Amino acid sequence: MSRRKELIPQPRSVFLRVKCPSCGYEQVVFSHPATVVKCHICGEALVEPTGGKGRFKCEILEVLS
Ligand SMILES: [Zn+2]
Repeated sequence: MSRRKELIPQPRSVFLRVKCPSCGYEQVVFSHPATVVKCHICGEALVEPTGGKGRFKCEILEVLS
């Protein structure tokens, strides 16, 4: 049994279009990553795993469902 406080209900995960703060490259990432998501071009860490919704260190341009 696990009960966690969740600030924002996240019934399902989604894909997000994000923009790398370093080089400006746009790519689509998973909202709940299990590992660090890095920029395809420059390797900047864009999303860090938290066990739930990832911690985004970049600009989110669009939510894809
Ligand atoms: Zn980049």
